[in-house]
Amino acid sequence: MKKVFIKTFGCQMNVYDSEYISFLLKNRGFKVVDKPEEADFIVVNGCVVRAKPAQKAFSFAKQWAKKGKKIISVGCFAKFFEKQLEKFSSLIISPKNYNVFEKIDFDNLNTSKVLKYTSDFADGEYGYYKRKEKVKHSEYITIVEGCDNFCSYCIVPFVRGREVYRSVYEIVDEIEYLISKGVKEIILIGQNVNVYYHNGYDFKKLLLFILKKVKNLKRLGFTTLHPRDVDYELIKIVSEEEKLLKWFHLPFQTGSNKLLIKMRRGYLKEEYLEKVMYIREKIPDAVISTDIMVGLPFEDEKDFEDTLDIVNKVKFENAFMFVYTPRDYTYAGKFWKKYIPPPDVVQRRLRTLIKNVTKNAFERKINFIDKEMCLMYDGGGEGRGWNNLRVKILSKEIENLKPGTFIKCKIENLQGLLPYCKSFEIIS
Ligand code: SAH
Ligand code: SF4
Repeated sequence: MKKVFIKTFGCQMNVYDSEYISFLLKNRGFKVVDKPEEADFIVVNGCVVRAKPAQKAFSFAKQWAKKGKKIISVGCFAKFFEKQLEKFSSLIISPKNYNVFEKIDFDNLNTSKVLKYTSDFADGEYGYYKRKEKVKHSEYITIVEGCDNFCSYCIVPFVRGREVYRSVYEIVDEIEYLISKGVKEIILIGQNVNVYYHNGYDFKKLLLFILKKVKNLKRLGFTTLHPRDVDYELIKIVSEEEKLLKWFHLPFQTGSNKLLIKMRRGYLKEEYLEKVMYIREKIPDAVISTDIMVGLPFEDEKDFEDTLDIVNKVKFENAFMFVYTPRDYTYAGKFWKKYIPPPDVVQRRLRTLIKNVTKNAFERKINFIDKEMCLMYDGGGEGRGWNNLRVKILSKEIENLKPGTFIKCKIENLQGLLPYCKSFEIIS
């Protein structure tokens, strides 16, 4: 039996794709192993959004190729590093083309004649099948693949290709299948879920349709939302529909209007603030998380102050913070490298940003102390609330609890930034 090891770098999209690839390879008679040493084939699903992680994925692939493994390069990095990967990969497949795994002749794969499927829709068909593997209590489902936004700094549209939407039928079908396998929570994923549009169904209509059509779904969430495409109706729907997670991942990137315009984000600082403040008002316990960059080309102290201003006003429960790195193909990467602030300034801004984010997250999270929360148990002694807030459960009894169980608890205090409770009651 052929053995394969799958290594995933990057976002939820890559995680979802790796699970799908694992399913397809099992169908082709592969055994998926836990250690690269034991495998004949190594699938590397790489991310190239930022320079360092991209290099890490590339080095991983190269290192195992040197040790004589057959390398299958997939994900955003397949296209980005195509020329370099050709030298030591047996097979290169970029996103949207994974269905070709069904017809590859694995016995005749070798590095001297690398097989490539790297154009958008190389095979002319796109779509995921139902995964017949073991499922977890919470599962991702891709609804939009690719991105058409072309933010000046971002490589995603170049390496994942143009936006493609899965049909409502296919999405509902996959959710129903997963639920029949015992899944409790579904998270719809895409680079930008709220641009969804298929046969008259926009994102809001899709959400309402899933909620109406699918029986036994306990919780429904989604990520990532593009702030430009969030409207008041969507916020209202989230506030009214019980099963929707009260969680908004809304990357604002920078608070500076000058930079938001240059980066083609499609909203201004004031508009972003208006929308999130409406969420805070309408759904006071909602968790709002974000992505922020520092060291963008042309960023001066005033721009950075505007970024801090958003952090201090919104008080995000969670934020991913990145130092901008120039990327090939992108406008900023091609033409604005010389306008990047000096490294010492960027590092100072990053430290200040982290300090501010941490302080505000703490201030926001102490509001949850003494509150009762309904959690879904995730395993590992942690659960997530209806607002996706992670909560530690410091009770011995948790050991016997199955992931996916719903429990009620009272938040005692915080451990660092992590709220915890000491006892719980099982709901269902
Ligand atoms: N579609 C999502 C983001 C996907 S990329 C959105 O528009 O919000 C994930 C995050 O990586 C981005 O939100 C951004 O903060 C970061 N990122 C993208 N390009 C980057 C670059 N060139 N350098 C550093 N961080 C970057
Ligand atoms: Fe990149 Fe912008 Fe698309 Fe997000 S919306 S994936 S940041 S181009």
